[in-house]
Amino acid sequence: MSYLTDVNGERQRLYGDDLTFREWHRFPTLPAYCSMIDIDIVEYCKDCRQPLALIETAIDVGQLFKPTTVTKNLAVLAGIPAYLILYKIAVKNQSIGDCRVKKIYPPESNFRLLEPEEVKELIIQIHQNCFCGGEDG
Ligand SMILES: [Zn+2]
Repeated sequence: MSYLTDVNGERQRLYGDDLTFREWHRFPTLPAYCSMIDIDIVEYCKDCRQPLALIETAIDVGQLFKPTTVTKNLAVLAGIPAYLILYKIAVKNQSIGDCRVKKIYPPESNFRLLEPEEVKELIIQIHQNCFCGGEDG
């Protein structure tokens, strides 16, 4: 999920994030059955490069539902956990605010309200679970 700020604009320039390919990928350029999604985040181990978790993200606008079926199916195939994180934007410090976090797999959970520090701990914990036991794992 992208939002437009000077900080993100700078990030887009550096890493080439852009919607052009995704827009091109739609019907009628490609047949409607060529469906796709973006996986927002793949947490991976910096030592062994194995994927550790999939995370779908979106700005929290009070939505009760966000489709996650494809992400869940991918997590099942990969044997890794998957999460949905809906985040508020803390405008004053251009960071995330409170988040609603839902484990998609395994097993699916209800949304939990987490503060940014708790989300940070969740992500750190994901990295500490790598089987390789790397220097930071
Ligand atoms: Zn590892």
